[in-house]
Amino acid sequence: MSHVRAVSESARDTLTESLRRSPTVARLIEQLQQSDVIVFIDTRVDPLVPTAETMLMSTGGGVRYVHVILNPRMTRDDRVEYLAHELQHAVEIAEDRSAVDGPSVRRRFAAIGRELAGATAREKSFETDEARRVSATVRRELAVIRLASAPL
Ligand SMILES: [Zn+2]
Repeated sequence: MSHVRAVSESARDTLTESLRRSPTVARLIEQLQQSDVIVFIDTRVDPLVPTAETMLMSTGGGVRYVHVILNPRMTRDDRVEYLAHELQHAVEIAEDRSAVDGPSVRRRFAAIGRELAGATAREKSFETDEARRVSATVRRELAVIRLASAPL
């Protein structure tokens, strides 16, 4: 049973491409596979979500359900990068068993990250150093593969 599931065709495309091109995405999915978190990946054109966001949706039966929303208007490379970034946030939720609802998730991110300026009360208003590192790493992974496949 996969702990990372795409719920739309375009989310499935991004997930497949990410697994193919990014060892970091493969590692994050492996970590989530060992956790009680199940991630649903969806795409949505939403002015409130210009890139991507991650939210804990519900908890039940010993399982925590996390939703990752990707804006499909991003470039393909950006979608891969943001999927990796949001999967890191899902791992950050998975690592804290006490993060089971909105307030406890916010406490978790307040402890390991920092609130962004202009933030609302939502999870996406926090950022962590590790998620920033994941973004940078995946950008390098994508660049290497682009170079490797460039015509001579
Ligand atoms: Zn982030």
